[in-house]
Amino acid sequence: MHTVDQALEAITLNVAPGPVETVPLCEALGRVLAEPIDSDIDSPPFDKALMDGFAVRAEDIADGTATLTVIDEVTAGQVASQAIQPGQAIQIMTGAPIPDGADAVVQVEDTSIENHEQQVRVSIDTRPVVPGRNMIHQGTSMRRGDTVMPAGRQLRPQELGLLAELGRQTLVVHRQVTVGVLATGDELVTIDCQPGAGQIRNSNEAMLAAQVRACGGLALELGIARDNPEDLSARIADGLKCDVLLLSGGVSAGRLDLVPAQLEAAGVNEIFHKVKVKPGKPVWFGTSPDSVVFGLPGNPVSSMVCFELFVRTALRRLAGLSPAQPAAAAARLARDFEFRGDRPTYFPGRLEHHSDGPRVTPVDWHGSSDLRSTANANAMIHFPAGDQGYRAQQWVEVFEWSGRA
Ligand code: AMP
Ligand code: MG
Repeated sequence: MHTVDQALEAITLNVAPGPVETVPLCEALGRVLAEPIDSDIDSPPFDKALMDGFAVRAEDIADGTATLTVIDEVTAGQVASQAIQPGQAIQIMTGAPIPDGADAVVQVEDTSIENHEQQVRVSIDTRPVVPGRNMIHQGTSMRRGDTVMPAGRQLRPQELGLLAELGRQTLVVHRQVTVGVLATGDELVTIDCQPGAGQIRNSNEAMLAAQVRACGGLALELGIARDNPEDLSARIADGLKCDVLLLSGGVSAGRLDLVPAQLEAAGVNEIFHKVKVKPGKPVWFGTSPDSVVFGLPGNPVSSMVCFELFVRTALRRLAGLSPAQPAAAAARLARDFEFRGDRPTYFPGRLEHHSDGPRVTPVDWHGSSDLRSTANANAMIHFPAGDQGYRAQQWVEVFEWSGRA
């Protein structure tokens, strides 16, 4: 039986980054770049004023005081029509190009204007002025030809702003992955039904589809397959049109757990079945030439945890994100906790960030069918196998769940 690390390694090896497409900048939020981005400009494109005030020659105000003749005014979007000479200044606004001859800006708050017959003069009283004050030089933040973003970068608002500065109207990104979600089980009814004797509502479909969307995938809800080979095989054939197919239920050892056999019959090649993990031990993973397939255990918390550990890794890999595997963080336990278990366990917890660091509280959890407990949690705490008493303040490994609280 695979360990969690072996299972993650197998997923990483068997899932390659997916195809790419070109999208407009305004539709690229959250997408993953499939091309490196080089700058075609210097930024800023010219020496630029960072304050409203007067462009000056620093050496004229080396001791902080001077009276200079104002020869011109330049606002943002304009260029000064003349260079400044010793003893001269040009009134300047934030964002305007520094005039030739000037090498600093004195902010307007440190100046007073005097009108002398035909001349305007500015009297300056400030700290000693050094070259470069209140201005930024051309190319300080990037130079033409610099690579400013690598392929594989997930695009956030600040990346989109930078791409707009570079004039990029379209981008090559990884295509959004389509993920079919197929629940299985004779006991399942749709959520608009009142369950009859022995029946339960299909909660996994809504949960898994939301997890897919939280990871940037396009979820397709494929309904409920019944526990018979005919219905299951027909729905699997349909589901294999997606880039990724998630089934829930039917992967354990019961007489009606038909999913592994039906997947094999549909030409999906098993990579692993069962992982040393709690919850989620029966999880199944395989690939076909065009799809990646997970058989997730039907118990809702098992499905959810297996998604966070394994499916998310596959989706990140398909999206071109690196690293694809779950990122562990450390937090202190908020209370003493007696752990009992013979498998590594991913236990629902409430992670909170306090001024003295992250703290995590194991929630009251009644096992893999207890979906309610996950609604009180936002992370999973990893307890290695073996009974152990953990103390409050002890550091533990945590994994934040996808989706916002
Ligand atoms: P299975 O993996 O099919 O043996 O199912 C394990 C448990 O999960 C059973 O109690 C099922 O009733 C339950 N279960 C299976 N599928 C779902 C689902 N889609 N929504 C909620 N519970 C489910
Ligand atoms: Mg079942």
